[in-house]
Amino acid sequence: MPISPLPQRAGNPFLRVHLCFLAVFLFSAFLTVHEAIELKNNYEDRQRAQLAEIQKNLDSQFQESIDELTYYERMLNYALMHPLDSSQTREAITRFQQLRQQKTWQLKLASLRSMPLNGVSDSWLMRDPLLQRSSDHINAELRAAMEFSFIMQFSDPGQDFHSRFWYISRAGFFISSRPPQSPQELIESYTTMTERPYFRDQAPNNPQRGRLRWSEAYQGEFKEGLMMTVSTPIVSNGYWYGVLSMDFTQTRILALMTEARHSLPQGKLLMVDRSLNEITRLHAPDDETLTPGQQARLEAQIREQPAGVMRLGTQFASWSKLKNMDAYIVNIQSLRQGMSQELGRVSLFLFSMWLLFVLLLLVAHQVIIRLVRRMVDLSAKLTWRANYDGMTRLLNRNAFFEQFVALAAHSQQQHKPIAVIQLDVDHFKNVNDTWGHAAGDQALMRVAGVISRTLRKYDVAGRIGGEEFCIVLPETTLADAQAVAERIRIRLAAKTILVNCNSTFNITLSAGVTGSEEQGDYHAESLQATADRRLYLAKTGGRNRVVAED
Ligand code: GH3
Ligand code: MG
Ligand code: MG
Repeated sequence: MPISPLPQRAGNPFLRVHLCFLAVFLFSAFLTVHEAIELKNNYEDRQRAQLAEIQKNLDSQFQESIDELTYYERMLNYALMHPLDSSQTREAITRFQQLRQQKTWQLKLASLRSMPLNGVSDSWLMRDPLLQRSSDHINAELRAAMEFSFIMQFSDPGQDFHSRFWYISRAGFFISSRPPQSPQELIESYTTMTERPYFRDQAPNNPQRGRLRWSEAYQGEFKEGLMMTVSTPIVSNGYWYGVLSMDFTQTRILALMTEARHSLPQGKLLMVDRSLNEITRLHAPDDETLTPGQQARLEAQIREQPAGVMRLGTQFASWSKLKNMDAYIVNIQSLRQGMSQELGRVSLFLFSMWLLFVLLLLVAHQVIIRLVRRMVDLSAKLTWRANYDGMTRLLNRNAFFEQFVALAAHSQQQHKPIAVIQLDVDHFKNVNDTWGHAAGDQALMRVAGVISRTLRKYDVAGRIGGEEFCIVLPETTLADAQAVAERIRIRLAAKTILVNCNSTFNITLSAGVTGSEEQGDYHAESLQATADRRLYLAKTGGRNRVVAED
């Protein structure tokens, strides 16, 4: 096994540079992602807070109407418990007895300010089991309704947020802040109202029944678009009289949302009922639409939690349930809309800075890799120069003896023979004198060429003096080494060296050979000394020869 001629460089400097840069890149990416997550959380908090603000505004408006409804509910209940017995109400009851068989009728107190009771006939009520004129309750109810019709004038349709409120009785009449304009409208209104869920859901034993129960969004009768109705049952002494209701139209809700929106300038704002049917929406100029899949994911989330924020592709949705209405407000903001806000600009800046940093990192990486490459080349060159002879490209004296000592030790360890050949060019002084120094150099290069071509890969040759060479042959016997020396000698002698167009010359060499087997010794110095001694014998013996014995 040969010994490597030069020491191996420890580690790979390129790998180290790559690893360092990768670590810096990963660290910067980690920091950027960390910051981005912070910004996203911040953005979500802000969305939540802004939506909560709008929700509060809307809720306070609904609160006023709900308070009014609650007030009327209490008033009706009180009036049913303690009916007002005045000559006017007695008169009205008498009047009712005369009118009750008519297809439609209106009854009002003498006061001009009072709203009329709008009724249908006894026979009309037969068609619906929920409706009935119970003789035990009708008089008390009529008195309470008269009182209500008088009180309700204090409401102001121009000021109120709700568009209409009314009381529908099971006993075939209703009082509305918007009285019917014709008998036809009266009967149609009563029919429609008693068929609507806001009335039927309030029937006793209905699981949907409840105070302040909201309908889903539906198309109202008066071409007002979508609306929602809140209703509350009027029950006294366990008897269900009817329902008190209030309408909220799409138009008024939209106007309110426009007013409340100031704190959330970007994105589209929707109001949806409990079944997530859209009631109304406020558009932003550059809204994007949700895909059906995203829509479904959003709806699933809204059903799960009353308020929240979620990302849907490149859009952000936030929602919040209203406290005073069975509905949600939903804000959907596109990436572009989000980016135009302060946090968006900060994110954009952060991302650009990171890109710039990565770009600089790449440039620095290229520069450093180039520097390292140059350094590695230079260091290889220096190492070569320190160990090789520039002219003959063989090991120089120091490097050769280092290798020689190592090979000798290795061979001794392995109990393998080692041989040494010492060479010297004959009459080289004459070559220089006759053909000049340049021709002498050329001749030396030719000698080195012959040596290199004759040796095996793991033999080691060095130039140990001006025109002196030494060769170490591992795992080689003396006889084999002698044969190698002979081969070199013969090949060199056969070479003709060209000086110029018409002059050539030849050179020869003498060699001394020895081996570890013969000496029983692996000491480089003594092996070389023996070979040198035999070289001297070759010189004195006439030159151009190989001597392998003393
Ligand atoms: P011998 O057969 O006894 O070895 O005779 P020689 O002339 O070769 O003997 P000597 O060792 O006295 O001469 C060696 C000469 O080699 C002397 C020197 O001028 C020449 N020489 C040494 N190094 C170089 C070199 O690098 N280039 C050239 N051109 N000549 C060199
Ligand atoms: Mg010499
Ligand atoms: Mg010589």
